[in-house]
Amino acid sequence: MAVYIVLLGPPGVGKGTQAKILAEKTGLAHISSGDLFRENIKSRTELGQLAQSYMNKGELVPDDVTIAMIRERLSRPDCQKGAILDGFPRTPAQADALKQMLVDFGGDVDAVPYITAEAEVLIARLSGRWTCRANGHVFHVRFNPPQKAGICDLDGSELYQRDDDKIETVTRRIQVYMEQTAPLISYYRQAGKLIEINGDQPIEQVRVSLSKALERWI
Ligand code: AMP
Repeated sequence: MAVYIVLLGPPGVGKGTQAKILAEKTGLAHISSGDLFRENIKSRTELGQLAQSYMNKGELVPDDVTIAMIRERLSRPDCQKGAILDGFPRTPAQADALKQMLVDFGGDVDAVPYITAEAEVLIARLSGRWTCRANGHVFHVRFNPPQKAGICDLDGSELYQRDDDKIETVTRRIQVYMEQTAPLISYYRQAGKLIEINGDQPIEQVRVSLSKALERWI
């Protein structure tokens, strides 16, 4: 039976970093809604254009297009064993839609690690974050610097600062998270799926906490 893990938590808490590590370890697909939107922007699709107008302001892309994009992604063959969802769902409507689509794929959300940290930690992380052009690998000027400034350690591509990691947008993204995504904490707690993980620790420590918490499934 396929395994579906949803990583929940505010922007900058380390969901992407941990999702990549987990996906590598387990062989499950890593599905990042933000990365999918950024790929669409890069290849100048209609969806990319629409998404960009919301992303630049730190707002959420409308539910209907986001849900359709994830449904299509989950139907691909690399998701047969399941997936680690990073950045989706972000609203209760998306969570309901996910439940429904997983019924079609013969599964359910198995566990929802909720990674937490205080707002000032998130702001410091997001505003010092540099992302690689080729594959979205993430570095931080202080907490996780690349060996060579401006170059990705893993694939040698250029590092850039995401437009929405600039300070004005970062504050709005955290506010949007509090208003629209935080209700998912009680949504998944009530469903008995929430597992709290302290995200205000070094990457390796968070990795260990997550691995222990998910032992039953992966
Ligand atoms: P992320 O890379 O997860 O920080 O996402 C970057 C931006 O993409 C967000 O600020 C939103 O504008 C958009 N986005 C990503 N995932 C979603 C989602 N599940 N629903 C709506 N918008 C999203």
